[in-house]
Amino acid sequence: MGLLIENASQVVTCHTRGRKFKAGKFQSELGLLKNTSIYAEGGKIKWLGSKLPKILMNSVTHVIDAKGKCVLPGLIDSHTHIVFAGSRADEFSMRIKGRTYEEIAKAGGGIVSTVKAVHSTTKAKIKELARKRIISSMSFGVTTIEAKSGYGLDTKNELKMLEIINELNSEMPVDLYATFLGAHSFPKNYSRKEYIDEILYEMIPLIAKKDLATFIDAFCEKNYFSPVEIIRIFMQGMKFGLVPKLHTNQFNSIGGIEAAVRCGALSVDHLEIMKQSDINSLANSGVIAVVLPAVSYFLDIPYAPARKMIEKNIPVAIATDFNPGSAMSENIQLAMSMGVHLLKMNCEEVINAVTINAAASLGISHYTGSIEKGKQADMVMFDTPNYKDILYHFGVNQLWCTIKNGYEIKLK
Ligand SMILES: [Zn+2]
Repeated sequence: MGLLIENASQVVTCHTRGRKFKAGKFQSELGLLKNTSIYAEGGKIKWLGSKLPKILMNSVTHVIDAKGKCVLPGLIDSHTHIVFAGSRADEFSMRIKGRTYEEIAKAGGGIVSTVKAVHSTTKAKIKELARKRIISSMSFGVTTIEAKSGYGLDTKNELKMLEIINELNSEMPVDLYATFLGAHSFPKNYSRKEYIDEILYEMIPLIAKKDLATFIDAFCEKNYFSPVEIIRIFMQGMKFGLVPKLHTNQFNSIGGIEAAVRCGALSVDHLEIMKQSDINSLANSGVIAVVLPAVSYFLDIPYAPARKMIEKNIPVAIATDFNPGSAMSENIQLAMSMGVHLLKMNCEEVINAVTINAAASLGISHYTGSIEKGKQADMVMFDTPNYKDILYHFGVNQLWCTIKNGYEIKLK
């Protein structure tokens, strides 16, 4: 299959110049090309330029006329909890009316309700729910998704969640990366020690044996997991080949950043509450800062200091954190708009934040996240000749065409 995207008004390459991610001033650089064609074959980008060389012309089997369109790398949602069951709409409505956390918990709300729903819903049913959400996410231009477990909180149900992610990855035209998040919360009827032991000695070895996850994650927060506990969990995960990423600094700064940097984590995610010392430890660490503005919007909590981090040369990625409790939206374009208006990032920084830097936060920026020769042919086209329209014309989905792995994807 030889795919030719012909004469696009703009191609936003997000080129890396051989680097893994974009930081500081480089995060504003898009590598913009005008009136450009792209040729892809065997799932890879083979050529970019103004006129396709004759020698490649014979291999073209599919042509897309992209005049008047702009092409971006396929968007990457690098932090989601897209696999879950149940609805927390009633809890949301109570919270909006000003009910306290205790009142909501008494009425059966909170993470416990999602855990209960995951336990009582069949694997097939949860999988169908996730499939629908993935299609919806793709409709906004996403071609790669990171998805976490963490609503099982016991071996059987954590594995059930990870199996769903792996099955959907092989059945759907999207790349799904599975993250084991057993250390999301503490389940009822376990002591702290019992649950951590189950994570360390039962879940991690089993997940590794069945090859069900790429990453290991945890929630570093007061009343959840401490940095010391997280280091133990990460060390064990790494021993079994899992790469750490960390939920940290959402409500309090308790040493999560330092723990993550020490363990060589790929990313630290959330970062709403950052001390100067946290920013200093991140600077020059090579760890990607994944910010999740939809959570701040949805929970009415402070926004991550993205500007400050960019000024300190820290590479910033944006993700949805799609989950039923604190960010019930798979719309990455909405998170991008929040990046501009609420995190005060410029349009170019935001685009790099959901492409090349998001890829770097998953350790895959060497083969996706930018439009460059040799990279996987993951591209999205918008029905506008100017990439700025994607952010300027907010709240409206202008996605026109999705190419995944060299193939045009029909979502319906
Ligand atoms: Zn999360």
